[in-house]
Amino acid sequence: MYNLSDSKTVQKVLEKHGFHFSKSLGQNFLINPTVCPRMAEMGGAAPDVAALEVGPGIGVLTQELAKRCRKVVAIELDRRLFPVLEETLDDFSNVKIVPGDVLKIDLPQLFDEEFAGMDVIVCANLPYYITSPVIMRLLEEKLPIRSLTVMVQKEAAQRLCAQPGERACGAVSAAVRYYAEPRVLFPVSRGSFMPPPNVDSAVIRLDIRGQALLPDEEERTFFRVVRAAFGQRRKTAVNSLSAGLSLPKERVAGAMAQAGLSPTVRAEQLTLSDFAALNRALFKEESE
Ligand code: SAM
Repeated sequence: MYNLSDSKTVQKVLEKHGFHFSKSLGQNFLINPTVCPRMAEMGGAAPDVAALEVGPGIGVLTQELAKRCRKVVAIELDRRLFPVLEETLDDFSNVKIVPGDVLKIDLPQLFDEEFAGMDVIVCANLPYYITSPVIMRLLEEKLPIRSLTVMVQKEAAQRLCAQPGERACGAVSAAVRYYAEPRVLFPVSRGSFMPPPNVDSAVIRLDIRGQALLPDEEERTFFRVVRAAFGQRRKTAVNSLSAGLSLPKERVAGAMAQAGLSPTVRAEQLTLSDFAALNRALFKEESE
């Protein structure tokens, strides 16, 4: 089996296939030998579990998932990597590479075709230019996923896992918490990659909630409320909501009072149940 954490081996394989890194596709490949086994283990890879990977690159994490899981499906956009992956993953019969863009591919269909009846985890070193859209897509599609364990830029990890009251807390933190329980697992230095990126990274794990927090009809306006509340960061939630939802300030202030919230509260201080109460107070008639 290829040792894809050995930079000389990686260089040799890439040279053989005439491969050059694409910065615009976020191609920084992991070469620190401890990171991928740790990601796979902490991400819940196990013999009774299947894994979805986004962006296998030359297959360094794919190998670790394939060793531990019953099946691995990896979506890769860069066609130049297919012959490389064919060679580096030759030892595994439980891996399938699916060509495509993770933001466009029909994920429910992929799950039906590849993972029917299986427990699925997502484990990936994400391309950083689309970190949040990929995570939000995987969450919003409500796919039968147990957890997402992903490598992201350090600052993105802080934002995605921020709790109410923390400085990094924003609309994306609230959206992630709506669907999952997030935590930062471990930091990863820029020197762990080839070529090294300009930023440090961290691995986070999002454990998907078993049940939706709100009924469908409340969900639509809930996310509008969250986005509007964080729309103008230095303002109070009342002002941001009034501007973002184009509602009179008095109506928003009334809804805040009804939800038991202080008129001077800021969006980053609000919990999910505060947002849910506020949403109900603002849009109750619409969702009935
Ligand atoms: N998993 C490998 C590793 O850890 O070394 C590579 C990770 S690299 C940060 C990101 C990978 O995502 C690259 O292989 C890149 O070609 C792929 N990629 C970029 N954009 C993509 C997209 N929209 N859909 C699927 N894969 C994509």
